[in-house]
Amino acid sequence: MFYYGLLIFSAVVASAILILLFFISAPYGRHHRKGWGYTISSKWGWVIMEFPAIVIFVVLFAISDRKAELVPIVLLVLWLAHYVQRDLIFPFFLRTNKRMPVLIMFFGLIFQTSNTYLQARWIYHFANSEAYSTSWLTDSRFIIGVIFFIIGYIINRHSDLVLRELRKPGEKPGYNIPFGGLFKFVSSPNYLGEIIIWIGWGIMVWNWAGLLFIFWTIANLLPRARSHHKWYLDEFPDYPKERKAIIPFLF
Ligand code: NDP
Repeated sequence: MFYYGLLIFSAVVASAILILLFFISAPYGRHHRKGWGYTISSKWGWVIMEFPAIVIFVVLFAISDRKAELVPIVLLVLWLAHYVQRDLIFPFFLRTNKRMPVLIMFFGLIFQTSNTYLQARWIYHFANSEAYSTSWLTDSRFIIGVIFFIIGYIINRHSDLVLRELRKPGEKPGYNIPFGGLFKFVSSPNYLGEIIIWIGWGIMVWNWAGLLFIFWTIANLLPRARSHHKWYLDEFPDYPKERKAIIPFLF
């Protein structure tokens, strides 16, 4: 009851967030502005808000009866491949002096706590024993999901790296037009990669929580990509006209 209640509540909140973010940009990074209360350095904001994604997933795996099974282990490895990078590596390589409102960090923390619980609790405790058995490794949904996950991972990491390299170490952080990779087609390929990662995850776990995670990622990143794109067009008169916000040739 609690699990399904949380799932439905989370879906309702994600729908509201999707609409809200088309009108209000989340106030961090280039969209940071005064009036959102206390702030924390972006680096530590990222570390703190993403941390539950590691701890809760590992704990729910460790206390499950399925920790010696292959597919549950593969899912743990893929999850950690993303979140160890996002939480413990990515923030320390950021070249930004921006601060993040504590409120944003707090929302991120709540989201990571509930989302990670929904993902891991199902896989490791509630799914029946046939789901995620070794035969799932050769199921087309698992294979397609892993392929999406890896492609999204590469696009996301490469694009975040291009953005990082736009600033030299110790340089006063300004903004430049990014080029290379999928920046040829869209302003936010890092967000596109992120969405592809979680579409892959949703396909490979094939449950409601996975579907909800896809929806959450789109709700967060589609409106933000649109805001970034508008910002680039306002800021740079020579910004490439053929570039879209996040979906090549379309949006
Ligand atoms: P951004 O693209 O806004 O910024 C990433 C970093 O690059 C920041 O340090 C930013 O600096 C810098 N940067 C961006 N554009 C430029 C530019 N034109 N010139 C110079 N530097 C630039 O990404 P986010 O911070 O929103 O997200 C970071 C990662 O987290 C992404 O991989 C994203 O996919 C992921 N994410 C995932 C979410 C989810 O729901 N799963 C939600 C949000 C993010 P500055 O901070 O100074 O602007």
